[in-house]
Amino acid sequence: MPDRPAAPKAASPAPDHPGFPAAAAAAAGTPEALEEQLVRCRACPRLVAWRQEAGRVRREAFREWTYWSRPVPGFGPPEAPLLISGLAPAAHGANRTGRMFTGDRSGEFLYAALYELGLASQPTALSRDDGLRLRGVRITSPVHCAPPGNRPTPAERDTCLPWLARELGLLPGVRAVVALGGFGWQAVLTALGGAGWQVPRPRPAFGHGARLTLRRAEGRERSGGAQAAGGAGGATRAGGAREAAGARDEAGAGSPGGGSPAGEARALTVFGCYHVSQRNVFTGRLTPAMFRAVLAEAAAAAGLPVPGGARPADASRPRETEDGGSGQERR
Ligand code: SF4
Repeated sequence: MPDRPAAPKAASPAPDHPGFPAAAAAAAGTPEALEEQLVRCRACPRLVAWRQEAGRVRREAFREWTYWSRPVPGFGPPEAPLLISGLAPAAHGANRTGRMFTGDRSGEFLYAALYELGLASQPTALSRDDGLRLRGVRITSPVHCAPPGNRPTPAERDTCLPWLARELGLLPGVRAVVALGGFGWQAVLTALGGAGWQVPRPRPAFGHGARLTLRRAEGRERSGGAQAAGGAGGATRAGGAREAAGARDEAGAGSPGGGSPAGEARALTVFGCYHVSQRNVFTGRLTPAMFRAVLAEAAAAAGLPVPGGARPADASRPRETEDGGSGQERR
């Protein structure tokens, strides 16, 4: 009997189709393959126009630069146990240099803190070839192209989210995530849900120092769903090194590579932190001490060595502002 002709394969959406991120991300089997597809993406017409316009007009100080003007991929080793997720690239920062938080004031603040904690090889981030290496940390964002006014629309956020969800799925060693700002917090929880983590409903509100422990069964589902640290169904303020150590134990710190045996539930802790935006830093809403405290606690939860140990993330917290961390972050 003659072989039946093979059914024609469904055509993949083109890079400028809104369905491209979901299809291309799902097909990527490694972080490298994901990055290869991501940098081709043109699914959001407004952001594609903006990222290119920034590179065409340029700022006077960057007149000699050839802007990256493409989606900016995650930066840092794929086996990192700690992930930091921001909002989106800045038009004249990461959109210029092609690397997360590189070439702008927010990056100066972020990488200086990582360096002080021994998580980065140098305190500055100027260009893709400046020699900066991250230790146990990866940095990404839920929106990969620079948005006008640093504000992506909900539709752009949703279109881009499959890239982050897939990235999370391809980083099996992640045990702690620092979400920068309210937008980052919500986007990370959505992406974690897409990557198989059990996210409680209603979602716990964002706050600086909030922490939330999620679970995901590997090999088989475990009942019980997500647990918020210190209480069911809600985020709590970070509680110090002891809780962080507990989270580390839950996360399978004794397992090689941070994984857990088949059939055992893994745990991952999400930390809320005000965004490292210029506005937050200039107004004192986020101080270097506050930021280091969150990073140190998240690093401890991820099983990374922290100089001097972790302190409660809100121990050095200044005054709250009227929008107290529940809304969009400021850049
Ligand atoms: S924001 Fe995301 S989905 Fe939109 S064009 Fe950029 S990479 Fe693609």
